[in-house]
Amino acid sequence: MTNPAISALAEAIGDRHVQTGDDIEPRFRTDLRGTLHAAPLCVVRPGSTEDVSAVMRIATAHHIPVTTQGGRTNTVRGAMSAETGIVLSLDRMTRIDDLDIKSMTLTVQAGAPLQMVQEAAAEAGFLVPLDLGSRGSATIGGVISTNAGGLRAVRWGVAREMVLGLEAVLADGTVADGLKKMLKDNAGYDWKHLMIGSEGTLGVVTRATLRLRPMPATTMTAFCALQSFDDVYDLLRDLDRDMGGQITSFELMWPELYHLVLDHYPERTAPLPRTFPLYVLVEAMGGDPAGDPARFEAALGTAIESKLVIDAVIAQSERERADLWAFREDIGLPMRAKGPMYAFDVGVGLSDIPETVRRTVAAVRTDYPDAFILTYGHAGDGNLHFVIGVGEYNDAAERRVDLAVFGAVKAARGSISAEHGIGLAKRDDLHFSRRPGEIALMRTLKRALDPDNILNPGKVINMDETFTGPVVA
Ligand SMILES: Cc1cc2nc3c(=O)[nH]c(=O)nc-3n(C[C@H](O)[C@H](O)[C@H](O)COP(=O)(O)OP(=O)(O)OC[C@H]3O[C@@H](n4cnc5c(N)ncnc54)[C@H](O)[C@@H]3O)c2cc1C
Repeated sequence: MTNPAISALAEAIGDRHVQTGDDIEPRFRTDLRGTLHAAPLCVVRPGSTEDVSAVMRIATAHHIPVTTQGGRTNTVRGAMSAETGIVLSLDRMTRIDDLDIKSMTLTVQAGAPLQMVQEAAAEAGFLVPLDLGSRGSATIGGVISTNAGGLRAVRWGVAREMVLGLEAVLADGTVADGLKKMLKDNAGYDWKHLMIGSEGTLGVVTRATLRLRPMPATTMTAFCALQSFDDVYDLLRDLDRDMGGQITSFELMWPELYHLVLDHYPERTAPLPRTFPLYVLVEAMGGDPAGDPARFEAALGTAIESKLVIDAVIAQSERERADLWAFREDIGLPMRAKGPMYAFDVGVGLSDIPETVRRTVAAVRTDYPDAFILTYGHAGDGNLHFVIGVGEYNDAAERRVDLAVFGAVKAARGSISAEHGIGLAKRDDLHFSRRPGEIALMRTLKRALDPDNILNPGKVINMDETFTGPVVA
């Protein structure tokens, strides 16, 4: 017997854009770790905002959960659907509607990959400041729904700072069209900020107007060695001051990661000796080809004189720049070669980073004295990654490591998710980052915008009022 909801979906958006049963492509069930999840009721691939609205109306009428998928680059099972749900893939919605060179804005459908949008803007002489390692797959809707940060947050902030206007479809199919090109709109609630970072639990982002910047004429990149974490603060402040606010990236690497990459790629030339306690990849962008490189060199020279930097290399070509970034970006294969590890993307204030690292390492080593711990992060958004191998890979070990990391994060009033979101994987640990009053407010918002709980249900917040967090002792 044909499912009436599936028939209605096929009629609304076209037969060939609805996949069911064995026709469902594996990619829609596969998360970033490669795990194949149970097949959803169906996958729908709308082509327009009107299609998304029709899907939501049908889902609401039939009480069927809807999980929106972008590039599926999150690690928290945020875009995986239950067997009873609809996967709403925006992979057909990649059109750029408008590139306004006077307002310096770009309006695009939410399924467009970030890199595609960066390239379109670059052709017109503009920069999309948001940049992440997953740029080739992560979509505009995905980066907005997870409030992505990334590699240039020091200067231009995170996704929230770049979204001027938003169009979203609500649970009942209502289209909230807030596509604006202004930086400020004080006419009523700025509701777009509710959608940004809500992981598809409050609405489906269908289009966005992004703020562009003129394409910088210069990019200066250096790899620096520091004697101590305490020098990070002075270095970031002094370099940014001396460069007149041009510092875009400030990537921290503890030596274990640098050694791992060097050992995995022995053919690569080490830019700096292995002997230092901390490495920083720093990048600046500017508009003065005659002056910027010399200013960058002078700023680093001053930092070396004042011993904030012990040693440094500056990229002299685009090739050398890519080689330096490779030490920060080509880390996936070396890590996988070490066997299964537990990965974290936590966030704390810059000043809390050393203590959070110390507490985490101490707590993990209480249970696992020989644990292998890699630490790195984006100083721009306070994002700290731990990748931890403890010699066993099972639920009990994972929980022990989770508690070690989350305990340290809670002590710093930090965030258990600085990148991938909460999704399903971290939902019941939300209380490590959020106070009870905040969680109550989140439940109120969720109930108001999605009374039937059909938008990505089960993700981000546990809606059971009696749930106050798992027993951890
Ligand atoms: C190599 C690598 C590097 C990364 N670097 C960074 C980084 O530097 N900074 C950072 O913040 N993150 C980073 N990430 C994490 C990830 O890429 C981001 O979270 C990204 O924003 C997710 O985009 P996506 O399109 O893949 O979304 P998905 O993974 O498909 O979805 C993420 C969540 O958003 C929801 N969603 C997706 N699209 C929509 C939509 N249109 N409307 C409503 N909800 C939607 C989904 O339901 C899900 O809950 C990295 C990931 C990888 C693999």
